[in-house]
Amino acid sequence: MNDFREGLLSINLQSIADNYLDLTRRLADGTRCGAVVKADAYGLGMTQVAPTLFRQGCRDFFVATQAEGERLRGELGDDVRIVILTGVRNGAELECARAGLIPTLFTLEQLRNWVEICARAELSAPCAVKMDSGMTRLGLSEEEFELLLRDRQLLNSADIHILLSHLACADEPLHPQNDYQLRSFKEAGERLRSLCPEVQLSLANSSGIFLGEDYHFDIARPGSALYGVNPVPGTPNLMRPTVALSLPIVQKRFVSREQSVGYGATQQAAAGSWLAVARGGYADGIIRAQGGRGRGWACGRYLPIIGRISMDSTTFDISALSDQDRESLQSIEILNKELTVDEVAEYAGTIGYEVLTSLGHRYFRRYIKS
Ligand SMILES: *Cc1c(COP(=O)(O)O)cnc(C)c1O
Repeated sequence: MNDFREGLLSINLQSIADNYLDLTRRLADGTRCGAVVKADAYGLGMTQVAPTLFRQGCRDFFVATQAEGERLRGELGDDVRIVILTGVRNGAELECARAGLIPTLFTLEQLRNWVEICARAELSAPCAVKMDSGMTRLGLSEEEFELLLRDRQLLNSADIHILLSHLACADEPLHPQNDYQLRSFKEAGERLRSLCPEVQLSLANSSGIFLGEDYHFDIARPGSALYGVNPVPGTPNLMRPTVALSLPIVQKRFVSREQSVGYGATQQAAAGSWLAVARGGYADGIIRAQGGRGRGWACGRYLPIIGRISMDSTTFDISALSDQDRESLQSIEILNKELTVDEVAEYAGTIGYEVLTSLGHRYFRRYIKS
């Protein structure tokens, strides 16, 4: 028996596959579409999502950590390239090289270490190098990049597969930072490629794909758009939603006179209203900031969340339902086609990425394959 009493999280693998193919079609000729499956595929389950993408032809996977990379290698075998976006842990270089994982290195010292340690162990040592084109997070600074270009010995001994950089403002198409980073990355790429012609270039995340072909280079690295987050906020979402979350109702109650609801008594239920308390709270990733602002969906209607969200439960005002619908009501959806991750993020004062990666682990997870 499937146990839905803790909530039902439906994850549509077919929609994820469709989103991957959709993004692939948007890319310039010759650009490969990779996939970012870090943080357990943004909370949706890497062991289900990665093989789905593999079947669509994806062969370049990006994860955040070495542990994620090792797990993914176990899932997908040796036929794929796995890039670790946050480099290699000090002392873990040999494990990383033996698993055939490609660390993204962002200082010259890391690059020298990687080359030296792997050479001593006679292991091949493919790597990616990240340059900072203007985000000021990870990456070789302009000065360090110059030093790399001048260090021919290092360049000859390092097996650099990919030069990558990350955009800070890709979801704001008109932001001048995009053009600035594009120029900086393009120039760096051309210079490195004149010395190491095999190096592939990668700049675009999901939103970067929608900035136009100039941003595509050799490999795109979408994550969020695969999972249904709108890559171009403020315009209709071209991606398919991939998740639905249904919370079972554990109590319905009639409120005979006006009365406050939940912790802090922050909101009043009107006299004559009906409330439903659903299983699922902030411990399940229902972001607490949605309290009194967000909404659920049932019987073709939106139902407001009333009062603060508790650790294990959320209360909805279901007065808008007909008597018959109210009586038969057993669950309320808080994510679906009508209530997207982007909309929920807006109520919660955050972004779709956080809504997805917060999804809890008490729900029953159902994977839809077609
Ligand atoms: C997470 C991440 C991505 C994917 O970004 P999305 O906006 O989710 O498409 C790409 N590149 C790097 C370096 C990342 O950290």
